[in-house]
Amino acid sequence: MTTTARPVAFFDMKAQQSLIRAEIDAGIARILDHGRFIQGPEVDAVEAALAAFAGAKHAVGVSSGTDALQIAMMAEGIGRGDAVFLPAFTYTATAEVPLVLGATPVFVDVDPLSFNIDLADLVRRVEQVAKQGRLRPRAVIGVDLYGLPANWPAIEGLCEKHGMFALDDAAQAFGGSLDGRRLGTWGHATALSFYPTKTLGCYGDGGAILTEDADRAELYRSLRTHGEGKSRYDVLRTGMNGRLDSIQAAILLAKLPLLEGELVARRQAAAWYEAALGGRVRTPQVTPGAESAWGIYTVLLEDAAARTRVQAAMQAAGMPSAIYYPKPLHRQPAYAAAHAAGIEGGAPPLPVSEDLCTRCLSLPMHPYLGEDDVARVAAALLAGLGA
Ligand SMILES: *Cc1c(COP(=O)(O)O)cnc(C)c1O
Repeated sequence: MTTTARPVAFFDMKAQQSLIRAEIDAGIARILDHGRFIQGPEVDAVEAALAAFAGAKHAVGVSSGTDALQIAMMAEGIGRGDAVFLPAFTYTATAEVPLVLGATPVFVDVDPLSFNIDLADLVRRVEQVAKQGRLRPRAVIGVDLYGLPANWPAIEGLCEKHGMFALDDAAQAFGGSLDGRRLGTWGHATALSFYPTKTLGCYGDGGAILTEDADRAELYRSLRTHGEGKSRYDVLRTGMNGRLDSIQAAILLAKLPLLEGELVARRQAAAWYEAALGGRVRTPQVTPGAESAWGIYTVLLEDAAARTRVQAAMQAAGMPSAIYYPKPLHRQPAYAAAHAAGIEGGAPPLPVSEDLCTRCLSLPMHPYLGEDDVARVAAALLAGLGA
């Protein structure tokens, strides 16, 4: 097929930049003039704007989504002897953080319909760890995979029952909501990433932690600045350098006013995909009461061979695709030992996570997709299926 149609981007940051380029240039120029590159007024302003957008009481800007997870866990004192439960089907950062802090990640299977953490499996593993008594069940990191909110009411209930910390890894999902409440107010704290391809991205690394709890917010501010107290030279606790810088904050301030409309455009693109794919492939089922942020659009093919065929057909048609994720975390060399150590006598299998990794495929998704773009992606996919 020869095509003169414009190429479809997997993520598109250029179309958005052209809308706000003047504001971005002006925002950066202001920072060059005032010279407060660290903790400038833009950081305070974006924290207020993020909290308002999410309907959360406090927002603390940090240096990345990974650091948001880490600072939130450091604030709870999570470390050696603690079990942290998280899905096996997610980005590596979710598992890395507990390990860096000396805690043990316990991988939990995901639900075959939503692709988010499976509640029955979570309950089972928490009870196993509690009964074995070697590790203390300390935290659950729920991930809102691809933008779809996890089952937060149930995760919160379980955490309350066992005295665990509930941390929402909403790195892929800023703007999503559940039961009419935006992500950012579920669990004890929410970690956001502003990596450029996320639903709200900056032009570098950045992140934030949202919480309803003033004491936690104060701890996060201290921890992101080396554990400082009221004075810079007062070190109250072991912290880190985890700050959001002023230039990234200015970029986020320019982008945030677009987000509401971009979320609508993402939802529209997802609806076009659903219509164009005509039920030939399965997608994560949007759970009742949930509004996905549609950070990543993923379909499930019949098997690994079908995925290989579809990827080849898409590539031949000039259509990008990607695999999020090709390997469940418990199979990663870096995490295999921790996985074996978490539950005595061998952890139960994680069949759904394993299965999804063999046949999931992600398609172009961004707010600047046109209906014709979606139609061309879908046609290439269906051609690969032999439809
Ligand atoms: C992107 C991502 C992170 C990490 O965010 P960074 O800003 O890249 O550190 C964590 N968890 C999930 C689920 C992510 O998608």
